[in-house]
Amino acid sequence: MSKLIAGNWKMNLGPKEAVTLVKKLQDRVLPKKSVEVVLCPPFLDLVPVKEILDRQKFKLGAQNCHYLDEGAVTGEVSASMLRGLVSYVIIGHSERRVQFNEDDKLIAKKLAAVARNGLRAILCVGENLHQRQSRLSVKVVVDQLTADLSLLTASDVDDLIIAYEPLWAIGTGEFATPEQIEPVISAIHRTVEELYGEGGASGLQVLYGGSVKEDNAKAYLNQEGIDGLLVGGASLNAEEFIGIVKAAQAAQV
Ligand code: PEP
Repeated sequence: MSKLIAGNWKMNLGPKEAVTLVKKLQDRVLPKKSVEVVLCPPFLDLVPVKEILDRQKFKLGAQNCHYLDEGAVTGEVSASMLRGLVSYVIIGHSERRVQFNEDDKLIAKKLAAVARNGLRAILCVGENLHQRQSRLSVKVVVDQLTADLSLLTASDVDDLIIAYEPLWAIGTGEFATPEQIEPVISAIHRTVEELYGEGGASGLQVLYGGSVKEDNAKAYLNQEGIDGLLVGGASLNAEEFIGIVKAAQAAQV
């Protein structure tokens, strides 16, 4: 299966700075079919970035969307508005779950909206530090998945990407070891199989995210069950992000 590297820029860079970063990346990244690289800038940057994007090298993603296709919802952006502009949408990022109280019911509706509009969701799941210390990591992630996927069909899940992002490893520099994440990655694959049948979601891709850098990317990419990486902070640094993309490309020789 091909690898996927996604950069989540979060609430950073206005349109001019975004275009500058993309140009820098484009100068240094060579396209490789077996590695899809997705850039997820803020909504405001999507149109200007799309105008200069080399589609052989990068695809575009959004960081969120509303569950309705249109309506009186001030300040929101729908999946139907994103159609034609992006190919991917991040859903259920822990910063949205925590800071905006997004619960699994809402996330399930957002995932349905993404599927209905023919886009690919990158669904984020993961436990917090207290839950990990209480040995609840697998349970938390399985419970999140079971609720989040409740409105999706098997063919929707075929297009889905699930990013395992332990909250204690996001933006902290405290990355999870391959031994720590192995049981959770296995549980993600097992849960989807249990819900949709063996081979029922053969297109599903599972990513790891949490303080990924150029120098730890390779270890995750070589781990069984991991099809790529969701990169936050390091995706804003051209050198680091290019290093991560190159590590993925080298792993796919
Ligand atoms: C993220 O925000 O999805 C993330 C993984 O952040 P960071 O790489 O900075 O930990």
